[in-house]
Amino acid sequence: MQPKRYNLFSEHLKQHFGGRAHKISVDAGFGCPNRGGGRGGAGCLFCDPGGSGAVGIERALSVAAQIEAGKEVMRRKYKASRFLAYFQPFSNTAAPPEQLRALYDGALGVEDVVGLCVGTRPDCCPPQVLDLLADYHRRTYFWLELGLQSVHDPTLDYLRRGHDYRCFLEAYEQAVARGLRVCVHVILGLPGEDRARMLATADEMARLGVAGIKIHLLHVLAGTPLGALYEQGEVAVLEQEAYVRLAADFIERLHPRTLIQRLTGDGPRDLLLAPLWSLNKWEVLNAIDGELERRGTRQGGRCRALAG
Ligand code: SF4
Repeated sequence: MQPKRYNLFSEHLKQHFGGRAHKISVDAGFGCPNRGGGRGGAGCLFCDPGGSGAVGIERALSVAAQIEAGKEVMRRKYKASRFLAYFQPFSNTAAPPEQLRALYDGALGVEDVVGLCVGTRPDCCPPQVLDLLADYHRRTYFWLELGLQSVHDPTLDYLRRGHDYRCFLEAYEQAVARGLRVCVHVILGLPGEDRARMLATADEMARLGVAGIKIHLLHVLAGTPLGALYEQGEVAVLEQEAYVRLAADFIERLHPRTLIQRLTGDGPRDLLLAPLWSLNKWEVLNAIDGELERRGTRQGGRCRALAG
């Protein structure tokens, strides 16, 4: 395989662990403050009833049993032997620290689990929770994953995120001050955002020097408020060629050290309304590689934080 023109997370994991490590998504039963603290409220415009697109999770099982089931699948598919427990759907810090500790310890206690990834919202990161996460950072391999989507407040309002950019920045800075690795989630193709706005998000991520990023394509799922708007013709999605160009632009502007954990979106096949081309994930990833190759550029090639 040709070396990537961007800083691929899976390569970092190989170097860190001396071999591949695979993420296993788990649902620990958390709710979300943006859904009234549970799972039933309206939430973000794009959020599906499963808590933002988590697929393949056996929700009825305990956390340890979910991980064991995931291990079996990964072993068969990839001969995998090391695993990261990824607390993915909903807001996985929305509980008192002692409850969080019991859940995280339960995951770390499963054989061959070598680290944790915890996804949450910026407004679910009070100091006592960040202190707890910092403790995990000291004793295991740990990532905090923070949903942001865009640095622009009008977009966050439109998405009904229930927090603004300042809220994200405060949580991010307090996490980084504790030494945590933070992976930020952003979305390209959001309603009301043109290329300049999307790339301003990239520039801001470069200024912050984020340790990791997940770049999602806006995809529309059935059963979401966004899905209803899409069916009424009020929301459009990107064509593949436009997404590939934008993703390449975004990558060029990131800091070269930032680890890219995701470069497209792959919503659940049975819920995906649009864009259907996103189901061909490898085609999209190959097209982004091809675009960077054609430009003769790479991650950080247009990083303003380095230029300035
Ligand atoms: S913060 Fe996450 S879980 Fe909560 S409503 Fe938004 S996308 Fe869904």
